[in-house]
Formats: sequence, structure tokens, C-alpha cells
Amino acid sequence: MHSSDGLTAARRDAYSGGVTGLTVGWDHDVELLLDFLNTRHVLDSEASWRAWVTERGLGRSSEITQARAARAALRSSIEGSSGPQTAAGVVHIELTDGVPVLSSSDALGAVLAASARLAVLGSWERFKICPADDCQRAFFDRSRNRSRTWCSMQVCGNREKARTFRKRTRAQNSTLATV
Ligand SMILES: [Zn+2]
Repeated sequence: MHSSDGLTAARRDAYSGGVTGLTVGWDHDVELLLDFLNTRHVLDSEASWRAWVTERGLGRSSEITQARAARAALRSSIEGSSGPQTAAGVVHIELTDGVPVLSSSDALGAVLAASARLAVLGSWERFKICPADDCQRAFFDRSRNRSRTWCSMQVCGNREKARTFRKRTRAQNSTLATV
């Protein structure tokens, strides 16, 4: 089978890098970044941030203020909003078996290294923020033509459809009432 999957797998191998001794692949990078983007309350306290970092074996936890700023910047760049667009963290280039790979020794570095790898692979545009006001979850659009709008069609997509329908019905009713 000559598919893009083969190519992706090859690229995954080429770009996988070491983060605190772990071999990190493409899926891992996607999951880590989504997880970080969706840490809504994790960054409310030092304790929950440290627990989040330890659970994932990301090394030292970075300054919480830096983590908050990086999360805000990553989210606004994904949304294409006018918010901050720079994120600071320490990422090292290590030569592993003669190949330069991104690595890090703290949590924010790990997240930013994953973001950089995914951008190089052309996967960055697949990260999206669900536009439903009460959702705002980050998700990864795996559809062939990157056409997904909602984190979940079953939940946010259908809810929005119902809302639009109600609005339209209301508008029609009020038009009838004024005639
Ligand atoms: Zn949603």
C-alpha cells in the first residue's frame, strides 16, 4: 500500500526526539500539546501544575507564569486571534546518533519542542479551538481536508445547529408577527 501513512511513519521516526530519556513520537507530541492547551484549571495553582508535569514525566516543572503565558500564546496563534504570539521556554538541540533533535529538561521546553516538531511536519494547522462559547477546547483535526470546525459534531456541532435553527425559527416568527 503506497499511502501517505508510510510517509508519515518515516517522518515520525526522523523527527522523534528524546525528552528526558523518553522516545517521543508524533502521536505523543499531538497528545502532549492538546493536553497542555486544554489545561484550563491545571494552571490555577502551583500544586496542580506540578502534578500535571510529574504525571507526564516531563522533568522539572517550569515557572507557572511562563506556562500560562505560553499556553495563552499557543492558543491565540491557533485561533488566529490578536493575542500574544510568542512563547518562551528552553529547548536544546542534541546530537543523537549524529542527528540533531530537539530536547528539553523542563515541562515547558517539552511542550514547545513538541510544537516545533509538529509545525515542521505540517501538522500545526490541524490544531484548532472549538468555537462554541461554552467549550473552547483545543482539538486535532484528523479529517482528510482539515474541514472540522467543532471539537465534536455530536456535542458542540449539534448544539450549534439546534441554536441556529431556534434563532431562524424565532426570526421567522417575529417576521410573521410584524406582517
Ligand atoms: Zn466543543
